[in-house]
Amino acid sequence: MKIATKIIHAGAEPDPSTGAIMIPIYQTSTYVQEAPGVNKGYEYARSQNPTRKALEEALAVIENANFALSFGSGVAATDSVMKLLNPGDEVIAANDMYGGSYRLFTKVWERYGIIFHYVDTTNVQNIKAKINTKTKMVWLETPTNPLMNITDIEAVAAVSKSAGILLCVDNTFASPYLQNPLDLGADLVMHSATKYLGGHSDLIHGCLMMNDADLREKLYFIQKSCGAVPGPMDCFLLLRGIKTLHVRMKQHCENGIAVAHWLRKHPKVAKVYWPGFEDNAGYAIAKRQMRGFGGMISFELKNESTDETKRVLSSTKLFSLAESLGGVESLINHPASMTHASIPKEERIKNGLKDSLIRLSVGIEDADDLIEDLNQAIG
Ligand SMILES: *Cc1c(COP(=O)(O)O)cnc(C)c1O
Repeated sequence: MKIATKIIHAGAEPDPSTGAIMIPIYQTSTYVQEAPGVNKGYEYARSQNPTRKALEEALAVIENANFALSFGSGVAATDSVMKLLNPGDEVIAANDMYGGSYRLFTKVWERYGIIFHYVDTTNVQNIKAKINTKTKMVWLETPTNPLMNITDIEAVAAVSKSAGILLCVDNTFASPYLQNPLDLGADLVMHSATKYLGGHSDLIHGCLMMNDADLREKLYFIQKSCGAVPGPMDCFLLLRGIKTLHVRMKQHCENGIAVAHWLRKHPKVAKVYWPGFEDNAGYAIAKRQMRGFGGMISFELKNESTDETKRVLSSTKLFSLAESLGGVESLINHPASMTHASIPKEERIKNGLKDSLIRLSVGIEDADDLIEDLNQAIG
């Protein structure tokens, strides 16, 4: 089945009790049992909820996974993955990634004795060099937030497989429409469904997708035991958002191409970070492992002064100044003071994230209007 059909029909069985074509919002905490231990497969809503179940089935289908589990946020999903580990275990993570993941690793999980090594994962040798007998996991992001670096998932999967360690890919920026890490050998995929999957900036949600039944059991146990589960209303909204994922992503990609090329030609723009440029270091890999380049673009102005960066950030009218990404409306963001403020400045600079970097989430408005807005803002 082709992806557009899969996205529309994924997990969409009519509700058995009424035939409702859309799964209802099962706003309930518990389920009445016929006799002690005799039930319809639902006992208590932290463990099972029909709206969440329909969502998890849909999420598995669109990521070509056998299983999916859903959580109250992207970081709750990431946190649940870390709970697979024991004190003393080591993780190799990307040195350029979502600030909230970095905060979770350094400020929470390091306190519990998990050791993280941050490396430039675009070179698989850097990962190989850090593997030892205590290494249990590789945590990747590609494209990265916010520098759009590309890592070869297949190459990292080969290394992690031969070392017997788990490869988890944060696939938020690409969405399952553009990239399917499990097909490339990853063991686990994480999404902040708050972004492209939801697509309408109206919910917070996270999910994990996997093929291995044992891994699913372990993570289901963590989901149920630690309880970072989403409510049924958010599951319903996410199911609704997913139905248009392919239509939205096509437009995000098309607008991304237009905005990236326009920005690159602008005399006041110094550098544009976008994997779709043929001279981008990650272009060949991105072309191979992604079906398009998405709507995320970062850039730096030639005038790197704080005043000029702030002036541009405050001058757009269609692009709203906000954290988050992946919604139908365009957003502009200042990683150094917003999404990535939790990464210490020296660490940020070392990894190439300048204070003058501006990140765009290109929405699905008309590209001409978006370009006109950026034009008047950059001046
Ligand atoms: C937003 C984001 C997260 C965290 O997800 P939440 O839903 O905000 O908890 C993780 N990874 C990436 C790449 C993100 O953009």
